Amino acid sequence: MDTKALYKINYGLYVIGAGDKEGGELNAQIANTVIQVCSQPPTIAVCLNKENLTHDMIKKGGAFSVSILAQDTPLSFIGGLGFRSGRDVDKLKDIDYGLDVTGAPVINENAIATIEAKVTSTVDAGKTHTMFIGEVVAAELLRPEEPMTYAYYQQVKRGTTPKTAPSYQEKKPEKEMAKYECSICGYIYDPELGDPESNIKPGISFEDLPDNWHCPVCGAAKAAFKKM
Ligand code: FE
Repeated sequence: MDTKALYKINYGLYVIGAGDKEGGELNAQIANTVIQVCSQPPTIAVCLNKENLTHDMIKKGGAFSVSILAQDTPLSFIGGLGFRSGRDVDKLKDIDYGLDVTGAPVINENAIATIEAKVTSTVDAGKTHTMFIGEVVAAELLRPEEPMTYAYYQQVKRGTTPKTAPSYQEKKPEKEMAKYECSICGYIYDPELGDPESNIKPGISFEDLPDNWHCPVCGAAKAAFKKM
């Protein structure tokens, strides 16, 4: 069995919101596994890791929201929701969200469409994940832009752009400059690409980055990076 075959499955990139009705607590996380599973009534499903706070909140609250992210969503936004736990920080503190139909926070920021669903069944998918199936009770189209795909996020946004990609910029550095990988989230700093979101132009070596530069995905300091 070659499990690399599974890497060829396509995914998107979504924000999942949930609320714990009794305590009034809210949380959100990043997920790539959202699908529509039935048309009458419109029903969607999401698979979440059992260790996640959002997972527990959906179990308690019986509802979840899905925000479909735009292709131009900044890495920092994804990192803020995706590489830390709502148990440690209030992830929604500086984020634009609404409380509409189900009580789950609906994240509008960087979303091209939002959906709310009430859980109709819960499937134990194995050791690590639960699948929540929910009937759609609200849906809104916000912007006409393209949705972010998981492949686009991995290849273009996270800095491992293949040379064949249209976004790749040919730059000839004076000397071969090393790539550095974030030990927290896996983001790769590639000197040939720089870090446009932090105004770092292509051609700047990792060593020459300002001391206060940090990982655009998870916010880790330079010291958390390892040479590749
Ligand atoms: Fe990082």
